[in-house]
Amino acid sequence: MVGTGLELDPTIGALLGETTTEIDVARKNRVFCNRNLRMDTIEMIGFDMDYTLALYHQEKLEQLSIELTLTKLIEKHGYPPAIRHLVYDPRWAIRGLMVDRQLGHVFKMDRHAHVGRCYHGFRELDHEQRRITYRNEKINLSSDRFEWIDTLFGLPEAVMYTTMVDWADRQTGTVDYDKLFGDIRMAIDEAHRDDTLKSVIKSDLASYIVKDPLLGETLHKFRSSGKKLFVLTNSLWDYTSVVMSYLLDGERKAYPSWRNYFDIVIVGGAKPAFFNELRPFVQIDPVTNQPISTNGEIKHLTRDKIYQGGNVVAFEQMTGIKGEQVLYIGDHIYGDILRLRKQHMWRTAMVLQELERECSVSERLEGQIQDLDLLDRRHRNLESEIDYQTLRLKKIQRLLDDDSTTAALRARLEDARKVTRLSVDALRDRAGLMETEVDSLEARIDRAYNSHWGSCLREGNENSRFGEQVNDYADLYTSRVSNFGPYSPLRYFRAPRRPMPHEI
Ligand code: IMP
Ligand code: MG
Repeated sequence: MVGTGLELDPTIGALLGETTTEIDVARKNRVFCNRNLRMDTIEMIGFDMDYTLALYHQEKLEQLSIELTLTKLIEKHGYPPAIRHLVYDPRWAIRGLMVDRQLGHVFKMDRHAHVGRCYHGFRELDHEQRRITYRNEKINLSSDRFEWIDTLFGLPEAVMYTTMVDWADRQTGTVDYDKLFGDIRMAIDEAHRDDTLKSVIKSDLASYIVKDPLLGETLHKFRSSGKKLFVLTNSLWDYTSVVMSYLLDGERKAYPSWRNYFDIVIVGGAKPAFFNELRPFVQIDPVTNQPISTNGEIKHLTRDKIYQGGNVVAFEQMTGIKGEQVLYIGDHIYGDILRLRKQHMWRTAMVLQELERECSVSERLEGQIQDLDLLDRRHRNLESEIDYQTLRLKKIQRLLDDDSTTAALRARLEDARKVTRLSVDALRDRAGLMETEVDSLEARIDRAYNSHWGSCLREGNENSRFGEQVNDYADLYTSRVSNFGPYSPLRYFRAPRRPMPHEI
């Protein structure tokens, strides 16, 4: 705070429950801002549940999804039991990968949708193979050929596809890569829908769900600043109630049940359909999980009832709260964020569980990242110098080729050519060494994020396509909901000034 000479006694601040300033918050726990947002204008805050309020122990959940999907592939879809013995590494995939179902490839793109790196099974395609495959035609990413892995629930699919493409290529006969992905997708979808996955999680919540001790306090702080809170999840009531109870019941004296924190609870929201279709709200019985007959359309959303389905238009009519006064916090760019931003409805904050690790790695490698930046700049300068000297060589040659050049001048030009050529050769050697050094430093830094794919938010010198979408569509982003805790609930989040290249 800037000193005014009028500061309050600090004990008064503590008594009023005042918050720390941003500078006190570790980078991995900050709330980052892409688009200015004044929290004092926000009247309601909505929360997605899975991967937003409830973070998962990713490796454990992936292992479970893979196990259950394999069982379904073997028992229901006729795959040989041998696939169970392949090594599926949950750390292999990251969010933002694209699956090419036609060719059996998985790739990562930069913000221009340029394919930065690409694997077929565990074999990385070289530059030329990538160029031939993805540069000669304009790829239509929205076609059925491509599947975008944009939620953490999707990582097991990418891991399984890669491992099974590698396996299938070693079998006899031709491989139908499209069918292979379709079968994995179908089996994993079944595991989500038929309760095989959720019944295991429910029976051992502590192993699968991260219990954040600061979540209750953060929600309480929002509430005490006058904001209304609601849950809007795609999960159904039976699962939602068990997970939410685990996260919040009894965490604070004033809130014996998780329900006490929330003014409205909507389950089975079917996002993104909630935002772009007009499905009706249905009231459900929390004991039987079945719809309750309500004599026609629901007119009010009240805190003692549970709703399923619904749509954003009816929600705003019933609550009387306008779009820009609602902040929705979710983790899924497509289901939770993109639609809201494209149609200028609710304001959005995105939870990126990976951000904690990304920030920790960046901090740990800060020195190396600076070295890389410096080396890269020096390399570019050297290249400009080589261009300059090469041009000079050409000019000298032109004069030497000119019949009108005198013998005396010719001798001096020959000397100059010799010196310039030696200097260009030396510069090229240095540039070559520097390039090798840049490449190896870049690869070392990259591997620290993920050994195959690097950072999920960056690709080369650019934002990755996923990073760019976070940039474009999420007003705020952070690694977990409780990161809002240290900030004032009235805070004016301001986006940093982003210079254009000519301003740097
Ligand atoms: P939310 O993030 O709270 O809106 O809920 C996500 C819900 O989607 C969870 O209940 C997941 O089990 C479910 N889910 C995630 N992936 C799939 C899928 O592939 N098929 C069906 N349901 C899914
Ligand atoms: Mg979610």
